[in-house]
Amino acid sequence: MAMQKQAQAAPTVGEPAGAVAGSVAVAEAGPPVLDTGGVLTIDLAAIVANWQNLARRVAPAECAGVVKADAYGCGAAEVGDALSRAGCKTFFVAHLFEARALRKILPEATIYVLNGIPPGGSSALAEVKARPVIGSMPELVEWDAFCRLNTWTGGAALHFDTGMNRHGLPVADAAALAERLALPDHGISLVMSHLACADTPEHPLNARQIEVFREIKSLFRGVDASLANSSGIFLGPSTHCDLVRPGAALYGLNPMPAAKNPMRPVVTLKGRIVQVRNVPRGETVGYGATWTAPGDTRLAIAAIGYADGFLRAGAAVGAQAKASRTGPQAVVAGKRCPIVGRISMDLMAIDVTALPLASPRRGDSVTLIGDGILVDDIAGFGSQIGYEVLTSLGRRYHRTWRG
Ligand SMILES: *Cc1c(COP(=O)(O)O)cnc(C)c1O
Repeated sequence: MAMQKQAQAAPTVGEPAGAVAGSVAVAEAGPPVLDTGGVLTIDLAAIVANWQNLARRVAPAECAGVVKADAYGCGAAEVGDALSRAGCKTFFVAHLFEARALRKILPEATIYVLNGIPPGGSSALAEVKARPVIGSMPELVEWDAFCRLNTWTGGAALHFDTGMNRHGLPVADAAALAERLALPDHGISLVMSHLACADTPEHPLNARQIEVFREIKSLFRGVDASLANSSGIFLGPSTHCDLVRPGAALYGLNPMPAAKNPMRPVVTLKGRIVQVRNVPRGETVGYGATWTAPGDTRLAIAAIGYADGFLRAGAAVGAQAKASRTGPQAVVAGKRCPIVGRISMDLMAIDVTALPLASPRRGDSVTLIGDGILVDDIAGFGSQIGYEVLTSLGRRYHRTWRG
């Protein structure tokens, strides 16, 4: 409460009221607070706690950290550093450039590149000591040719497609490829696969993929195996193998959508109020005039919109012509208030009629994520998933990492 007051008195959105007591800002990025519309705060201690939680669940298996897409928008450098200090030794990224950036920060870590080898990119990968996740025969041929001429001993992962039909070597080739294990320097450091429906535990594809992967593991005895992403971890020990690869759960998304979220929230987003205005009963608000004031209304206009990645499925908001208690909300002066009308590129309107007249004021901050509003809640209002919300945030915000 004291913090809330402070946030109202100062015309900044710099100090997140939801910040963990005792945590300190360890890094800042983006434009200065007052030069932009919002502040994104990333709680590194929560990310570390989430990683430790998952690591405990899967022990003695190893818990890696997936930091692709700038660590799901949370900052790959900051997250990589924090996880490494906590004991995480293996990281997954999607692209070579992400591996290159991470290597600068983590000279010792094992880094796998999920999308494999870009055509002709074997030597570039080896230069940053990144390990490819090989998912097709042409890649394997290229990698073999490279390894014959170079003394790369870092290893590579073989990704088998056990039923997702997205990326991966055919299961039918597994037995032939396993014959390589007879070679002393076979260079296979990991066999892996990826679950298509892990967030839906009852889906029959899970059991099928687990069974097929069990066969692959038995062909590659002695090589570490990895199957589970965040949700996969919660399917139970049959998916844990030697190494798990969580991303989303580290960043606070719920790995088990049907149950209570066991992960700590990581991201707080606060926007600045640029204006408080009165709208007479019967007037409409925003593009498309999709929302009509049911009575004399007071609106707080916050400087965050869809160009900030805060899609909140703008159109869906409009469709819910009467934003209600179940619709999208923001926390203003400690109280949940509905977001009304369509979200614009740089602005949104929040109905603050229920608040005392003296608050809020221009310059005050509103909480769009945090204070009980979760990333998964926001996704739920549109056709998005939490992953999309997270990875879209932050291009225009001031970003603060706390640890
Ligand atoms: C992105 C990704 C992960 C991490 O998935 P989450 O659902 O975010 O935990 C793991 N493995 C592969 C192959 C991936 O592409």
